[in-house]
Amino acid sequence: MKTINELESTIIEAFQGKLRGKIVMPEDANYKDTCKVYNGMINKHPGMFVMCVDVADVIAAVNFGRENELLVAVRGGGHNGGGLGLCDKGLVIDLSGIKFIRVDTSNNTVRVGGGNLWGEVDHATHPFGLAVPAGIISTTGVGGLTLGGGVGHLSRKYGLTIDNLLEADMVLADGSFVTVNANQHKDLFWAIRGGGGNFGIVTSFNFQAHPVSTVIGGPTLWPIEKTEEMMEWYHDFINNAPDDLNGFIATMIIPGAPFPEHLHNKQFCGIVWCYTGDSNDFDELFEPVRTKKPLFEHVGEMPYPAIQTLFDGLMPPGMQWYWRADFFNELGEEVRAQHLKFGSNIPTPLSQMHLYPISGEASSVGNEDTPWAYRDAKYAGVIVGVDPNPENATKITDWCKSYWEALHPYSSGGAYSNFMMDEGQDRVKASYKHNYNRLVDIKQKYDPNNLFKVNQNIKPVKELV
Ligand SMILES: Cc1cc2nc3c(=O)[nH]c(=O)nc-3n(C[C@H](O)[C@H](O)[C@H](O)COP(=O)(O)OP(=O)(O)OC[C@H]3O[C@@H](n4cnc5c(N)ncnc54)[C@H](O)[C@@H]3O)c2cc1C
Repeated sequence: MKTINELESTIIEAFQGKLRGKIVMPEDANYKDTCKVYNGMINKHPGMFVMCVDVADVIAAVNFGRENELLVAVRGGGHNGGGLGLCDKGLVIDLSGIKFIRVDTSNNTVRVGGGNLWGEVDHATHPFGLAVPAGIISTTGVGGLTLGGGVGHLSRKYGLTIDNLLEADMVLADGSFVTVNANQHKDLFWAIRGGGGNFGIVTSFNFQAHPVSTVIGGPTLWPIEKTEEMMEWYHDFINNAPDDLNGFIATMIIPGAPFPEHLHNKQFCGIVWCYTGDSNDFDELFEPVRTKKPLFEHVGEMPYPAIQTLFDGLMPPGMQWYWRADFFNELGEEVRAQHLKFGSNIPTPLSQMHLYPISGEASSVGNEDTPWAYRDAKYAGVIVGVDPNPENATKITDWCKSYWEALHPYSSGGAYSNFMMDEGQDRVKASYKHNYNRLVDIKQKYDPNNLFKVNQNIKPVKELV
């Protein structure tokens, strides 16, 4: 594997001549800023960025990376916890210039560029009363979130993001361009619905959108001491609730405004709700929640893009983030006790734990229908240590690891790949479980030399049994 430093300047000049987008090199004034990703804990220094503006740029960049034997990373929204949109010394193919959105109201589909962010999609679809299921923070990239799965407020009603992916345009490792869907390159279409960026660069996605305009949503909070009681109750309630109601449960601190002052810097067990059904039915459906007497309720009607941006202000880019995750089937007694223990010792105001329900429509898809191997798990859990101050990096990392280690024995074994950092091959295998070998076959066919390896990597090699 070569580094950019080893290339003749004439090779780099010839490459720039093939592009409409710019390249950014370490000596350029904007290099330092271009190296930044969402997670301030990531400190990688690529040899070159290619700021692609169209498919032709992506093809040229893939050919350049392959022909010059470079380490290649692909960056969509730059949100990945492990910084998998960057690499050291190699080539970063940046897609942030490939943005376009077209809503087709004849069939409620949305065509989206490979470098778009989810907030841009929500903004474009909302005037048409439509939404595509995605994550809960609007600055997340469409590319990485979709290729890994996509869990959010609409998962119970309309499934994961991948369940709403109809088609993708891709540049493959050999530089060829393909369109994949249920009829064309079926193997690839299966693989990219959860298998991440292993199989090529997606330059455009086509999604099924749904009639979601206004939702009823927001948080309810209970004192942290009630964590065990609330988790036991929540498990029964959410798994029997209609698909119209989503709610993820969390342990967290209320850091400050916009919440009332009496809540600030206290620890809570919270649930963030999102209801997409008939508003006339909401109060009756929500009555059992109110019977549990939340200390604080801020649940009301709002446009869908409002719930999608509810937490953006608390989570600006550039903070330290340490991630750990697992799937869970149950919230048994010992698990609930651990949540109380670690939820009572959250190290910094923005650190938190979330359990996202994988039920309703998200669980109606089979474990082998997409690479997402845990449709039968009840929750995708994630623990994040978060803080603006790099001096607290060790503190948030230690808490996160200890919380995860205490819970892992009760987990289903693997994690949602988009909630993982760079955690090694065993974790990748555990996350794809029985689907791993099928992914290896497809990787061998489309990327036999593992050009796309900066991701939750499916190596194109069969294990000896
Ligand atoms: C604050 C925050 C909130 C989040 N909330 C949620 C949530 O609610 N639900 C959820 O499911 N996830 C959530 N995530 C996780 C998120 O899905 C992952 O971080 C995801 O990897 C981000 O995608 P990205 O394009 O922004 O990242 P990047 O860092 O740009 O890329 C991540 C990976 O995807 C690959 N990739 C990106 N775009 C493409 C493309 N077009 N073609 C090929 N490969 C590509 C990259 O090579 C890399 O391996 C959240 C993350 C953060 C930081």
